[in-house]
Amino acid sequence: MNHEELLERTNQKLQAATDKRVADICSRLPHGESATHCVDCGLSIAQGRRDALPGVQHCISCQEINDRYGNHR
Ligand SMILES: [Zn+2]
Repeated sequence: MNHEELLERTNQKLQAATDKRVADICSRLPHGESATHCVDCGLSIAQGRRDALPGVQHCISCQEINDRYGNHR
């Protein structure tokens, strides 16, 4: 393997890692309509929280739990 090939492979690996990270972050960002009530516990979600986090689906308590323990579905 010559130097150029090595460089090319390294770039591809870096690019793949970046793509994965971006996709990961995007998948965690809420999308679309905010829920009026938490999808986990059913408590109403404060309007301020819904405005601040478009697409939010969880109340603060459930969000904290999800953030801490992961939210793998
Ligand atoms: Zn909740």
